[in-house]
Amino acid sequence: MKISEFKDLHIAIVGGGYGGAAAAIALKSIGAENVHVYEQAPAFGQVGAGIGLRPTTVELFRQWGIFDAVAAVSSPSEHLEIITADGGHVIVQEEWPMLHGYAQTNHTRIIHRGDFIDALFGALPAKMVHVGYKLTGIADEGTTSTLTFENGETVTADLVIGADGIRSLVRQQLFSDKAPVFAGEHAYRTVISMDDAFDLVTDDNPRFFVAQNGTVAYNLPLRHRNEVSYDITARSEDDTWAPVITNEYLVSLLEGFDERVVNVARTLDISKVTSRSVYDIDPIDVWHTNSVTLLGDSAHAMLHHQGQGANSAIQDAGALADALLEAGSVPEALALFQATRKPVTDELQRLSRLGWTPESAENAFPEQTPAN
Ligand SMILES: Cc1cc2nc3c(=O)[nH]c(=O)nc-3n(C[C@H](O)[C@H](O)[C@H](O)COP(=O)(O)OP(=O)(O)OC[C@H]3O[C@@H](n4cnc5c(N)ncnc54)[C@H](O)[C@@H]3O)c2cc1C
Repeated sequence: MKISEFKDLHIAIVGGGYGGAAAAIALKSIGAENVHVYEQAPAFGQVGAGIGLRPTTVELFRQWGIFDAVAAVSSPSEHLEIITADGGHVIVQEEWPMLHGYAQTNHTRIIHRGDFIDALFGALPAKMVHVGYKLTGIADEGTTSTLTFENGETVTADLVIGADGIRSLVRQQLFSDKAPVFAGEHAYRTVISMDDAFDLVTDDNPRFFVAQNGTVAYNLPLRHRNEVSYDITARSEDDTWAPVITNEYLVSLLEGFDERVVNVARTLDISKVTSRSVYDIDPIDVWHTNSVTLLGDSAHAMLHHQGQGANSAIQDAGALADALLEAGSVPEALALFQATRKPVTDELQRLSRLGWTPESAENAFPEQTPAN
């Protein structure tokens, strides 16, 4: 499509997470001006934890003109290290794929989730962003779709992007009513001062301590904040959304782990730990109509073992903008978008379900081409 054809196209994005924010930035970067993000919460926010933004994702930030804003609040990492739980043996230490795959070196950027959402929304004009808009219904009318919000407002748009996360209403109403799938795991996440990390962090690279029973304790250094994101994932049959835990319980999960990992669990402020049951979704067959598409977790929520959910949501945003430029119409663009991204995310969903064991470490780097 020519820029003149989508400059005034009315684009409504449901959900102000990484996927929704990135979609708005990507579309703005190609010349779309009538783009609006509708978020249910009264303000944008993310849990206190770190995340790794991979080189392919970082290249998009350069394209969109937001690299400096992201780099200012993140630390560069060159490689990922996977080691045995006791810290005694390095299973894999590998450079990030595509680190040198572009004109400029793109390190993986380790960032605090809150800083990242702030950086994304800082790149959008206020008129594009609407908080306190909880979607309650969507009617697909063919070339347009109409959104109904809990606050009584309705919006009719030429293109609706359902970036409303793993429990997406857009997905449930138009594409699949299958519920998210419990992985039989909990994730416990917090951010602590480096001063309280018992010398666990020795450089800027994420380190994953992996036990035979699938428990993994990983840390992502946030050196620019003098902090480290400390995360544990462990098996549990309790599928309540926010399980209640204690320091003693965390320590009990870490039998045989490196003493530094155990010491952090013993001493951290448990009131600052985000405790969540872990879910994904089964791949869905179709994620678009002629005027609606899913994007990010709503389309392909995956387990966090590959660290690819947010990266995928952002790469979806880049692919959707590319598809609009390349295709002749919105319906063609949405079909091209799904054809480009679904094979990649289907595979990531599959790999993520393999979980974490020392033997599965070889799956840590599925990206081999720039398309991934
Ligand atoms: C423990 C854990 C660790 C992870 N680690 C990593 C990692 O290291 N790297 C990585 O790439 N990914 C990681 N992920 C995955 C990543 O967090 C998600 O894939 C990513 O946040 C998805 O972004 P999204 O924008 O698609 O969805 P979300 O972040 O869920 O955003 C959806 C937004 O839509 C809004 N919304 C929902 N319903 C409505 C409605 N009805 N109306 C209006 N708004 C609505 C929500 O409030 C939310 O703001 C991890 C996930 C977990 C659980």
